[in-house]
This record gives sequence, structure tokens and C-alpha cells, in this order.
Amino acid sequence: MIDRYSRQMIIPEIGVEGQRRISNSSALLIGCGALGTVIASALVRAGVGTVKIADRDFIEYHNLQRQILFDEDDIRENLPKAIAAERHLKKVNSEIVVQGIVSDVNYANIEDLVQGVDIILDGTDNLETRFLINDVSLKLKIPWVYGGAIDTVGMTMTIIPYETPCFRCIIPGETFSAKGLTCETAGVISPAPWITASLQAAEALKILTGSSKINRDLIDFDVWGNRFKQLKFNGRNSDCPACGHNRFEFLDGKFSTRTTQLCGQNSVQVLAPGKIALSFEALAERLRAAGKVEYNEFMLRFFADSREMMIFRDGRAIVKDTDDEIYAKTFYTKYVGA
Ligand SMILES: [Zn+2]
Repeated sequence: MIDRYSRQMIIPEIGVEGQRRISNSSALLIGCGALGTVIASALVRAGVGTVKIADRDFIEYHNLQRQILFDEDDIRENLPKAIAAERHLKKVNSEIVVQGIVSDVNYANIEDLVQGVDIILDGTDNLETRFLINDVSLKLKIPWVYGGAIDTVGMTMTIIPYETPCFRCIIPGETFSAKGLTCETAGVISPAPWITASLQAAEALKILTGSSKINRDLIDFDVWGNRFKQLKFNGRNSDCPACGHNRFEFLDGKFSTRTTQLCGQNSVQVLAPGKIALSFEALAERLRAAGKVEYNEFMLRFFADSREMMIFRDGRAIVKDTDDEIYAKTFYTKYVGA
């Protein structure tokens, strides 16, 4: 065990005691895509005692460009990401617990998922889940590390409950403009998520070893534009609904995306969280990068992945030819954003 971790134990800030803390700790990673595969790999190799990996998705060929834990065999076997990640990582480190959880993380199940963990890592691709993580982090006083990457840019920030600004101090969560870009429409090169995820993993090691050198800024970079920025905050926002007033609106389900099967139509309706007024012009322009788009003043029809989705101005959508609500939510989030 000592030999396996010897190189990181040489670092004075880690040492024997730091490694003991890492080995006795438990982490939950939510989302196992470009960020998540790198984070999971780093935590497992560093010897974090229990690594739980929650993800709702399956692997597709366009994931292999940046999601380092997966290969073509996983796709042929039609494996969920959480299971493929667990299988690969158990071969890397058999001395710890690696648990893949195939689940759509939402307000109804997140409290169960985070029970007993020391840290939550954000590997998601949408704001709604991040606000949800933020709420549960505050409620149960578990630190979390935000990470986001798209195109050639990345961002990360560490949230220590009631100590640093929380995610909602920084980004107001009441209005979802649905202008959020996604990797499906804006694209992504692998270094953007890999750098972000590596910074997140470093934060995880600092938090788990009890280091005082936790990053308290928002780190923001563009690998193509050669820009690396650290944005400092002036403490927490006293008006923040979450950490200022303990109103956990995402955890209470107030702003959650809801799905319903439409009886007899083999379709699923997706209701977006919050108030949305979509501009079809802007949405169409983004979606054209990913599929075929047609629209009139009432409705936009989008065709991709052999699937059709009808989207209305209030953000409501109908995903056709499926009765799988999680698939429909994933499809919606992937292209419209959340
Ligand atoms: Zn806050």
C-alpha cells in the first residue's frame, strides 16, 4: 500500500498522515463524462477509500474523443458509463471500494447518495444538477468542487459550506434562460475538461488531507485563447437564497426538470425548470451544429441521433418514439441545456 502511493506521500503536505486521511475518506462523483472520467481516475489512483460514481448515461462513439475511461468494447457491450468506469477502475486499484451507480441524480435521491461522503465532485454537464449539489452540500455541510468545460474553456471553484461563496452566491438560479451552450452544440476539445478535472482532483486531495491551501477563487481559462484567470470574491452574498437564507429550492424540487410519459403516444414530455422564454432563432442557430432544425412561430422541431424533439417557447419539449423518461431528460439537457 505504501509503495503504491509512495510518490504522492513524498509531498510534505501529504505524507503518511495525509495518505491515511485519503484512504479513510469517501467521495461521490456526480457525472462520469469528460470531467468525471478524469476525476474518478485521479481519486482511485490516489487511494481514496471509497469512490462512488453516479451517472445516468450510456457510452457513445463521440464520447471516446475525451472520456478517458471508456473504450470501443464498452460501447459494443452497451455498458452504462457508471458500470464501465467501475470495471476499469477496479483493475487499477483493488484495495479500495469503487462503486458505479446507474442513476439520474435528482432532488428525490441526492440526499441518499451523499450520505456519509466527505466530498462531492461535479462531473455534470448542467446547471440544474449543480444547484442541486450546492443545496445538498449546504444542508449536510459537505464540501463540493464545481467544474465546467465546453469548447476550449474551463472553469472550476471550490465550495466549502458557509465558508466560501456558494454556487448560488455566484450564479442566481431563479431564471433559466436556456441559452446554456452544450458540448453537443458548441463542441469541446479534450484539454478543456481534462485541465478542469485535474484542478478539481487537486482540490479534492487538499480537502481530504485537511490542507489550508484550498482554492477560494473562480478559476477560468481558455486553452485556445491562452487565457488563465483567477477571479476573487468579496465573501459570500448575504442575499443568497441558499447559503444566506437556507432556502434549498433545488433540493425541495421547486426548480427541477420534470418528465411525463404521454399516454398512447410513445413520447415523453419534458418540463424545464423555472421560467423560460425561448428564442427559436437563437436556439435554431445553435442546434444546427448538431442536427436538423425546422421551426415556425409556435414550435421548433429538432432531429438528431435518429430522434425527433418538439420544443415550445416556454421551454416545454416532447421527445418522440420513446417511453424512457431518463433518456428524454438526458436528450433534452444535451441539446437545449439546463
Ligand atoms: Zn450562497
